[in-house]
Amino acid sequence: MICLGIESTAHTLGIGIVDSKGTVLANAKKSFFPDEGIHPREAAVHHTKHAMELVSLALASAKIDAVDIDLISFSQGPGLSPSLKVGAVVARTLALELKKPILGVNHCVSHIEIGKLKTGVKDPIIVYASGGNTQIIGLSGEKYRVFGETLDIGIGNMIDKFARKVRLGNPGGPIIEKIAKKGKYIDMPYSIKGMDMSFSGLLTFAVNAFILKKEKIEDVCYSLQHNAYSMVVEVTERALSHTGKSEVLLTGGVAASKMLQGMLEVMCTERGAKFNVVPVDVAGDNGAMIAWQGLIEYEGGRRQKMTDTEPNPKWRTDEVEVGY
Ligand code: AMP
Ligand code: MG
Repeated sequence: MICLGIESTAHTLGIGIVDSKGTVLANAKKSFFPDEGIHPREAAVHHTKHAMELVSLALASAKIDAVDIDLISFSQGPGLSPSLKVGAVVARTLALELKKPILGVNHCVSHIEIGKLKTGVKDPIIVYASGGNTQIIGLSGEKYRVFGETLDIGIGNMIDKFARKVRLGNPGGPIIEKIAKKGKYIDMPYSIKGMDMSFSGLLTFAVNAFILKKEKIEDVCYSLQHNAYSMVVEVTERALSHTGKSEVLLTGGVAASKMLQGMLEVMCTERGAKFNVVPVDVAGDNGAMIAWQGLIEYEGGRRQKMTDTEPNPKWRTDEVEVGY
């Protein structure tokens, strides 16, 4: 089977084409990163504008015709409502026109499954660190349970917001990582409540440290990353300890961070656990992960009526039945 997957939850519109073996035939994407942060309606306008051009690009790079597609999948949630609607409309249009089945999938679960496909890891504690989401997850029964998560903003959004406030550019993740290489540690807030994390206080402190206290930008960038990533590592270590699992999978856009990878790897080595990280080309939001999720759910027997394809902006990771 060949599936075309549509990602449109936030700033990225992605069209991926994947076959049943997990070969990524195409993974076209275009992201919307305005200087002042994302406005949901503007993101939807961006996605509408580029949808058909990206579908054509993906088909051309996969070297197939639209009629060769067997299944259309799309991100049904969670995400920004106007952006999600664009993806759903494009998916319905393609499915009706091509007379193929449609399947709306959970975006967060797709980040996990593409990581499993690409690394071969079996039953890990998952560190899902992206723009809008930060969750420490493990499979139990037929659901991915969330052991700890952010209580406020996602770790990637926190970093991006800091970069925008101090005028370093957008998205901030890669920029800050580069600047931080020359930095040293200055004391900053570290906020874990039970197994949950909070990043908004750290963001405010870091902005003030640079703008009001005139601390060096490299020190602020280093310390911001240091504390944010330490919180993630601490919760991950506790999740490993409580569940007895012995593998970790890092996925989501922030998985591109060498510093986060390094810190998780040190913790895993000390515990005798195996560390895995999703390849960078499928770390951030992309259509291939949605296509792969569509395939495994369809081949596992799930079917969806057109009338059930309304987006679900608040669809949580731990609500999805994953007994495929
Ligand atoms: P996603 O929401 O999964 O598409 O991930 C996008 C997020 O990944 C953005 O917030 C980026 O700033 C972040 N990101 C990308 N590369 C890096 C990096 N090297 N370090 C930290 N964050 C990153
Ligand atoms: Mg994402």
